[in-house]
Amino acid sequence: MNKTEWIEEIKKLNVNLKEEQLSKLEEYADFLLEYNQHTNLTAIKTKEEVYLKHFYDSLTLVKIANLTQGKLLDVGTGAGFPGLVLAIAFPKLDVTLLDSNNKKIAFLKECTQKLQLSNVTIIYDRAENYTRLHREEFDFVTSRAVAELRILLELNIPALKINGKFLVMKANIEEELKQALKTIEILNCKIINRETFDLPKNGGKRTLLVICKERKTIEKYPRTFDKIKKHPIK
Ligand code: SAM
Repeated sequence: MNKTEWIEEIKKLNVNLKEEQLSKLEEYADFLLEYNQHTNLTAIKTKEEVYLKHFYDSLTLVKIANLTQGKLLDVGTGAGFPGLVLAIAFPKLDVTLLDSNNKKIAFLKECTQKLQLSNVTIIYDRAENYTRLHREEFDFVTSRAVAELRILLELNIPALKINGKFLVMKANIEEELKQALKTIEILNCKIINRETFDLPKNGGKRTLLVICKERKTIEKYPRTFDKIKKHPIK
């Protein structure tokens, strides 16, 4: 998807970006592809694919949430998806990008400095360590392509405020969702919205879910990653 087509598509999402934001995104795409030549950050190799599979996909979250303000945590952000794209599109959104991979963190630090973004905090940590300490702090938590839903729920929900929303992004959700229904209940949450659609240009199917936290998370969660993985809450 070229930039002009992309601008038309995001208008359909009701996202209207200013020149400054468009040029920051372009700088981000160029820097990502340049950095990717010496450090493996993404399997995506062309600018057109970056615009569709990273930028457009990240912005689809506007279908399920008003992201014009509040605090958002992107767990397992990698090279900044979806969090960094949202930070550029919504300058009043306070975005924390978290990842446990040092190479990705080094890229994000350099990139956000280059783009002069003042609404981004970058954290080098494991999700379970960070959310254990930063409980009930965020309005939104999201993660793309990080782990199965039951694992993500335990990693992410503790960081949400009461009434905060976990914005789930998945290509195929049915099986994972069935397995996660009990986990959602145990973590005092409720599914409040769901959107399924096709990405443009045969980019694939996508389901977005909003899981709202109704009450505080029990202190024992999140457990160690080993326990979360071997014995997911069910
Ligand atoms: N969200 C990005 C995207 O969609 O392009 C990156 C996806 S990449 C497949 C998964 C990322 O999650 C990696 O950068 C990895 O380091 C990070 N990750 C996995 N488990 C994590 C954990 N427990 N804590 C923090 N980061 C984690």
